[in-house]
Order: sequence, then structure tokens, then C-alpha cells
Amino acid sequence: MRLGIDIDGVVLDFVTAFCTTCRERYGYAIRYEDIVCHDLGQVLGVGSKTLERLIEETLESELIKPYSGAVEGLRRLRQQGHVVELLTSRPQTLRKRTEAVLRQYNVAYDKIIFALFLQKVAKVEALDLFIEDSLAEALEVVGNGTPVLIYKHPWNERSLNVEGRLQYVETWEQLVAAVEQIAAERLTATRQAT
Ligand SMILES: [Mg+2]
Repeated sequence: MRLGIDIDGVVLDFVTAFCTTCRERYGYAIRYEDIVCHDLGQVLGVGSKTLERLIEETLESELIKPYSGAVEGLRRLRQQGHVVELLTSRPQTLRKRTEAVLRQYNVAYDKIIFALFLQKVAKVEALDLFIEDSLAEALEVVGNGTPVLIYKHPWNERSLNVEGRLQYVETWEQLVAAVEQIAAERLTATRQAT
């Protein structure tokens, strides 16, 4: 399958690094579990200029690391023949920095696609599955008909999910197992159709 996988919040743990930047550099008391909304400016109660500075400092720091199991999980998915397209709403100007972090941790992928926030839907037409942490971004894609996995965090777990279209995973082990199950179901459906 062609998998579209978000970088920050699914592969890389931006938020833990962001909390460290906020605490150590600015003395803002902020913990991972405090991030109950994807809009970090709203969580902190700061304006866009302050937020931009905090995000930029975090992205340029050495603090961002992959989530536990992400590196092994991506390697396994590619070994199974899946194509991994990393889809990020980081600015294009951070391409080199982003590629350097991924290289540093031996993150396996096929390509990176940069798309502005809420514009990923325009890039996912050919994808079989989209994996994301932003509910807003994921719901655009749900509307497009592409199946979505949500990597669960305090900022995305409160949806009522009334149509049951959002499938949550809490670890990379669960994520890989969910992809394997979806791939197996597709294979069965294809066999039945022929
Ligand atoms: Mg994200």
C-alpha cells in the first residue's frame, strides 16, 4: 500500500521537545499532558509571534527524537513492500533540517512531501492509508474517503468519532498491526472480487 505518514506527532516527538524549550528557555510550566489542543498558541495562551519563535527554536534544536518503535516500525512496513510517503506541514525552508534529523535516527522512508496545514488532502489522492495526529488534518482526508489512523495524544483523543471513521492507535506496535490488518483485508477483498 501507499502510506502517507505525518512526521511530527507520529514519527517524531515534537511536543516533548517543545515542552522542554518552553520550560528551559522561557520558564513556562508546561507538560506533555497539558497539550489538549493541536493549536499550541491556544494551549499556552500566547500570540502567533511568540508561538512562531518557540516552534522555530524547537525545530532547530537537537531535542526532537523519534517515538519509541517508530524507526523499527517504518523499517518493517517498508520491508513488507509498503511505500512510505512522509507528509509534513513543516515549512519547505526546514527541508534540510528535517532530512538531517531523519537521517540521524535512520528513519526509513521513500519521500517527503511538504504541504501547508490543512492542505495535505490535496496530496493524498493516490494514498491507500493516511496516518496523522491532527484531527483537523485527518478529517479533511476522511472527507476525501481515504482511510485514516490517528496516533493518539492528549490533543486528539476527545473526538466523539460519531461515524467511527477515526481509528486510533496508541503505540507504533499498534500502528504496524493496524496497517498489516488493513493490508490483509484489502488483499482478501481483491481476491473475492476476482
Ligand atoms: Mg502532526
